[in-house]
Parts: sequence; structure tokens; C-alpha cells
Amino acid sequence: MLDTTQFSNDQTVAFGAGLRRNFAEHLRTSGYERPLILTTPQQCELGLELAEILGASAAGVFSKATMHTPTDVTDEALVHLRDVKADSVLSIGGGSTIGLGKALVLHTDIGHIALPTTYAGSECTPILGQTENGVKTTMTDPKLRPGIVLYDAELVATLPAAMTITSALNAMAHAVEALYAKDRTETATQLALEGIAAFQTSLPAVMENPGDLAARQATQEGAWACGTVLGQVGMALHHKLCHTLGGSLNLPHAETHAIVLPHATAFNQPAAAEELAPLADLFGASDLARALWDFAKSLDAPTALKDLGVEEADLDRVADLATQNPYRNPREITKDGIRALLGRAWEGAAPQ
Ligand code: NAD
Repeated sequence: MLDTTQFSNDQTVAFGAGLRRNFAEHLRTSGYERPLILTTPQQCELGLELAEILGASAAGVFSKATMHTPTDVTDEALVHLRDVKADSVLSIGGGSTIGLGKALVLHTDIGHIALPTTYAGSECTPILGQTENGVKTTMTDPKLRPGIVLYDAELVATLPAAMTITSALNAMAHAVEALYAKDRTETATQLALEGIAAFQTSLPAVMENPGDLAARQATQEGAWACGTVLGQVGMALHHKLCHTLGGSLNLPHAETHAIVLPHATAFNQPAAAEELAPLADLFGASDLARALWDFAKSLDAPTALKDLGVEEADLDRVADLATQNPYRNPREITKDGIRALLGRAWEGAAPQ
């Protein structure tokens, strides 16, 4: 198992299938007494299960978490949090639910315990993306990183196959970009490689048997490693493209990452060959982008933006937006280069 204490001193992290059933014990050692449980509407049942486990300690369940953390939902949750006199939030879900937990911490001094149910990695970062009147802004503040993260493998065992693979590729994308980040460190590089290796070995086993809890836990270790590097170093072209596609066309987060990753890697690998070499070695490939594409296809991941409902006519506008205020990137970004990349990702063609 990856040694979480080696890399994050300001976060308590635990792994274990079924550990949510001992949540009352985790709460006692956390020092918090009365958490408000947060979920999406789709995962309300899970919130109710935790409320039952906590009994009188639960301050209630707020189940309106929504993708991209709209501020009107946060405002409603804040009123509820104060009404029920909660001293902490317990976010059970993916990046959307954990995002709501972070937004509540931003406005209060409460504690945050996260039980992730996807591999997106928000629980490891001090980053919060919020939407107000349709405009998404992102901020970073150390207090936003949840203090306690409990990875219960049973919670990801319910992820449908399609979400399992797209969410895993979303996590792997953090690690790929960490390898060539301008502010990369040896620690982040090591962690990024360990995270991808964990997914590379455990994902096929999980796809074969979704209920394999040992393999599911290995994927969560990968998610923790990839999410931790997302919180430590700056992201580049891949994340810029996904944020632009997601923001301007309202595309699903994980699927967009899954489709774009091989193409963004193909664009950057000539300029970051040395940094990406250990990853190419891990896949036993000379062309990493092609290896990532083959890996995704072998697991039936989506490969074409057109299958997400993107119109070819949208691509020029996305290329324009993605080349405005670009993130730091190892290779110079040109509108023509990005438009060609997007064309291949739209079509579902092999990366080049
Ligand atoms: P999500 O949280 O939006 O979940 C997508 C859907 O899947 C929801 O309906 C959810 O209820 C459901 N779901 C989640 N786990 C499930 C499970 N185990 N079984 C069945 N259904 C399940 O998806 P996500 O990809 O985890 O998060 C995306 C959001 O998180 C985006 O808004 C993204 O910007 C944000 N994000 C933020 C960071 C950060 O560091 N701030 C990092 C990654 C993602």
C-alpha cells in the first residue's frame, strides 16, 4: 500500500473496505461531534446510511450537491448548516459533493471529513471551483483541503463500469501532467508514477470483477496519489482543454478527461519526452500517447467528443478559448495545433 504519511502531513488518510461502518469511531478521534452529511440527490441513500450509523451525532443530510459547485446551492447549504448547528461536514461522493464541503469550509470554521466515491481526487487538493451565474472560477487555499479522508473500497465498488474507467483516466491525467509541470518536484514525480502504476495494474482486474475489493482499494490508492499531485503542482494543456470544453459546452467532467488525455499527451510528448519517459517505460511503449489510447480503448472508455454531443462547428470556438490565457505548458500552444488536436479528439481518431 502507498504510504500516505510520507507525502501529506496535514491530512489524515485511511483505507479499508467497509470502514464507513466504524464511522462513529473515526468521528470520536477527529474531535468533531456533529457533522452535516452531504451528498448528491443520486447518492442520498448513502447519506441516510451514514446518518443511521451516526445516530444522534448526525446533524442531518443535505443532498443537493451539484457539479461545479453552484453558489446558490452553497448558500442554501450554509443556512441549513447553521440551523442544525453542525460543527463539521461529512461529504460522501465524488468531486461535486466534496466541492460543496469545501465551499462550506470556505465560509465557516467547520471541519471536513471526506468519503470519496469516485477517483477524481478533489479530497486531496486545496482547490475549489465554483460557479456563479454560469461563470466558473477556481481558487486555492490550504484550509480547503479536507482534514480527514476515508477511502472505503465498497463505495467505489458501486461505480458503474463506464464511470470507473472515465474517473480513473481523469485521475491518471493529473499524474501525467504532474510529470512535466514547471514546478514539479521529485516527490510529486514519484507519487505520480506510483498513482498511474496502481491504476494500470488494478483497473483491468476491477473491470473483470467490479466487486474485487482488493483491486478497488488499489484504484483508490492510485486516486489518492494522483489527487495529491494535482494539489501540489500546476496543471497544463490537458486540464485547460478539459476546463474549456466542460465550461463552454457543459460536458461531463470525467468523460471529457478520458477522451482528451491521449491527445493532449501526443501534443506535449515531443517537448517533454524526458519527463514522460518513465511513464512510457511503465507502459512498455515508445509512444506514450498511443499506449494511453490503447489502454483506454481496451477498457471500453469513450474516445470521441462527438459521442458526448459536441458539434464539429463548436471546435473553432473551443480552440479560441483554450488558447486564451493558456496554462503553463511544455510545448508552445498555437490555435492551429489545438484545433487539429480537438478535431482528432472529436472524431475519435488515434492521437498523433
Ligand atoms: P461527480 O461528483 O459529479 O459525480 C457524478 C455522478 O456520479 C453524480 O451523480 C454522483 O452522485 C454519481 N456517483 C458518484 N460516485 C458514485 C458511485 N460510487 N456509484 C454510483 N454513482 C456515483 O463526479 P466527479 O467526476 O467525481 O467530480 C466532478 C466534479 O469535481 C467537477 O465539478 C470537477 O470540476 C470537480 N473536481 C474538483 C477537483 C478539485 O481539486 N477541486 C478535482 C477533481 C474534480
